[in-house]
Amino acid sequence: MVRGLPKGFGRRPGWAGVAPPRWLADEMLGRLARYLRFVGCDTVYGRGMSDDELLATAAREGRILLTRDRPLSRRGRQAFLIDSPELARQWRAVRAAWPEVPIAPAFSRCTRCNGELEPVVPEDPRAASLPPGVRGRRTAVFACRSCGHLYWEGSHTESVRRRLAAWEGPAAER
Ligand SMILES: [Zn+2]
Repeated sequence: MVRGLPKGFGRRPGWAGVAPPRWLADEMLGRLARYLRFVGCDTVYGRGMSDDELLATAAREGRILLTRDRPLSRRGRQAFLIDSPELARQWRAVRAAWPEVPIAPAFSRCTRCNGELEPVVPEDPRAASLPPGVRGRRTAVFACRSCGHLYWEGSHTESVRRRLAAWEGPAAER
């Protein structure tokens, strides 16, 4: 099922806004970027970008820079320091700062490239490359408009869902 995005989603980032901001994740935060995309947040992964490029891209595209680099976080007007190398702690830091970030897979963003997903009907030629088990189950399938990667509700989604739920718990660290 495709979730409707909240009104104003993807517009100007706001620290106190209702909709989650758009992000730019630095090179150290690739896994965090994938999880943010899983829940539908527009997150560019700045792999290979220099500090100056990260700051310029964040400013140009109205994104909040998520960075592990303390000096860099002080340079950006809209930068957020992620202290921990652990994914669970990183996620919880983002959720603490932006409680509006969803905690369930949204099937609206490609976790590989941040492209937008669209539903794929069974007659679509792209559905031909699905594993037979998925086709037979009549599961909702989505395709990335940019890279074509296919997504569906399955065991991988289930484990992500469980992990996201566990991270909400008081003692969870993994
Ligand atoms: Zn993609």
